[in-house]
Amino acid sequence: MAPASPLFETYNRAPLRFERGDGVWLTSEDGKRYLDFAAGIAVNSLGHSHPHLVAALKEQADKLWHLSNLYEIPGQERLARRLTEATFADRAFFTNSGAEALECAIKTARRYHHARGQGERFRIVTFEGAFHGRTLATIAAGGQPKYLEGFGPKVEGFDQVPFDDWAALEAAVTEDTAAILIEPVQGEGGVRPVPDERLRQLRALCDETGTLLIFDEVQSGVGRTGKLFAHEWSGISPDIMAVAKGIGGGFPLGVCLATSEAAAGMVPGTHGTTYGGNPLAMAVGNAVLDVILADGFLEHVRDLSLVAKQGLEAIKDRYPDVVAEIRGRGLMLGLKTVVPNTEMVAGLRAHHMLSVPAGDNVVRLLPPLTITAEEMREGLSRIDMVASELSSSKQAISA
Ligand SMILES: *Cc1c(COP(=O)(O)O)cnc(C)c1O
Repeated sequence: MAPASPLFETYNRAPLRFERGDGVWLTSEDGKRYLDFAAGIAVNSLGHSHPHLVAALKEQADKLWHLSNLYEIPGQERLARRLTEATFADRAFFTNSGAEALECAIKTARRYHHARGQGERFRIVTFEGAFHGRTLATIAAGGQPKYLEGFGPKVEGFDQVPFDDWAALEAAVTEDTAAILIEPVQGEGGVRPVPDERLRQLRALCDETGTLLIFDEVQSGVGRTGKLFAHEWSGISPDIMAVAKGIGGGFPLGVCLATSEAAAGMVPGTHGTTYGGNPLAMAVGNAVLDVILADGFLEHVRDLSLVAKQGLEAIKDRYPDVVAEIRGRGLMLGLKTVVPNTEMVAGLRAHHMLSVPAGDNVVRLLPPLTITAEEMREGLSRIDMVASELSSSKQAISA
């Protein structure tokens, strides 16, 4: 018997080992090529081995990797300036992950009220199906029993309401509420976009009640939906926003963005990180933005989204016993399947294509934003093939 793995048994990993990647393609140790519509869970926004990112990383690697935040880091100021100029925000705090960006967002919201002499206003309203990370505070925010079980008392101060129940939401926002925290498009929850009109209503409710609005754009941000950030589709903006995944293109990087008013409580000493915003991360983050902010890039994402959606709708029409619904925006797409979503993910894997399961029986398609139309059509044809294999009507039609 092979010796047990020395790793924690926290993951059910697919028995696949990849050696290298190039754009939307991965090559396994046994030399097989896979079409990557998982992109490291929406992280490899520019695909694998993007030459501009590789060059930025190598150039910085020869100079300086890490300093700590005891000193000024010009790369942080540059990336923060570019992010704040492109968004609602005035301030940025860099982290190494999405959960840490959320921790910063939650602390920032609580400190805002504390600094105004309203320290009792620390509660945060969240939504069913949400996912905000795996730290103790973010599992409390996400509210999923399966992630909370066995880890002691849930961190206090999170009130969860149904995904789409306005009356419950209004009732949940009280004088103790510091903020409403929401993903403009739920990722893990099943690629569920919040309607633009609902986001506008949330903004109005927050303005009326002096509540801060926090967006978790860890998955939906950085071009994924065809806008720099998903909430831009609605025309409103939050007070605080957590970003990660796509912003590092594969380098661990996150950021908490806020207006200067919302960040007013975060004075010296209130928060910190050893690694966050180190020169290596900043070099890569700035290189990712070079590409995403270039003329025509987001338009490319929107064009490819159209190609994908038309193809997926056609597959849905052909195999209604396999695919129930197409969801999502830009290149954050979901297939709600009739068959178990894991069967579709496994079927795609057998056809050398990677996808990601999500809640609500959804298969997530999160290709690199740099995908070409031809590669998209290749992906669609593999999905079509798997749908036809899973379809019970196939035999009926061919009989
Ligand atoms: C992935 C994700 C997180 C957590 O990010 P980590 O980098 O895994 O800590 C938080 N929120 C959303 C919406 C995510 O998709």
